[in-house]
Amino acid sequence: MSRLPIAAGNWKMNKTIEEASEFAEALLGFSPNTSDIEIILCPPFVSLYPLSQKLAHTGIKLAAQNCHWETKGAFTGEISVPMLLAVQCQYVICGHSERRHIFGETSEDIGKKVKTAIHFGLKPILCVGETLEEREAGQTEAIVLNHLSHGIATLTNEEALSLVVAYEPVWAIGTGKAATPQDAHQVISFIRQQLAEKFNEKTAEQIRILYGGSVTPENVFDFMKDSEIDGSLVGGASLDPTKFNKIILESLRPYQ
Ligand code: PEP
Repeated sequence: MSRLPIAAGNWKMNKTIEEASEFAEALLGFSPNTSDIEIILCPPFVSLYPLSQKLAHTGIKLAAQNCHWETKGAFTGEISVPMLLAVQCQYVICGHSERRHIFGETSEDIGKKVKTAIHFGLKPILCVGETLEEREAGQTEAIVLNHLSHGIATLTNEEALSLVVAYEPVWAIGTGKAATPQDAHQVISFIRQQLAEKFNEKTAEQIRILYGGSVTPENVFDFMKDSEIDGSLVGGASLDPTKFNKIILESLRPYQ
């Protein structure tokens, strides 16, 4: 079963609209291959619309970094799934560790976001991963299972086909200390096994599972040559178009 790989760049709270536009121009200047890999940019909300104009018909896709589970109402500061779809967003990151740990999002909240996103046709990138303390206490699988099971609790088999999971160990995010490809393989295989138990083998084989945490142009090939790892969610290294383009090229290398 071949799964289309993904290179997703999570810009977090970086880049003004102008800077986002300059990035897009620089990336397009490399003529990236958008047929053999899904290239997804995750800018701050305000840049989604201008980038949707700039990237129309280029094959490069957009993701939001968050959404709310309600469609409208008295939720000051929040953005709904229909609002994201209206600016041509195709993906949304749900449950990034910064949302969980800095903003106190619960696994239940994240499950509601995943469900609403899929219901309206937005594909969630559900982030799961343990802290260093949890890893050292031997709780990696328990934590990942907790994040995953709440995230997918109410999904049907058919809905699950829209899901992307990103294994992002918290201790590897923004630290320059990536997991080893062996560690990532082990947890990602565990995730796929859990998906097979919740849905079925065939569905689990179709769901893409990414690795995220200090991915660079230098180390991405080692992750991508593992057939269980379907792509990367990249923070810091996605802010530079040259580096991100290199990540795209290196991600494709195992498939050539
Ligand atoms: C992230 O923000 O999801 C991430 C993995 O960041 P970084 O690549 O900088 O570790």
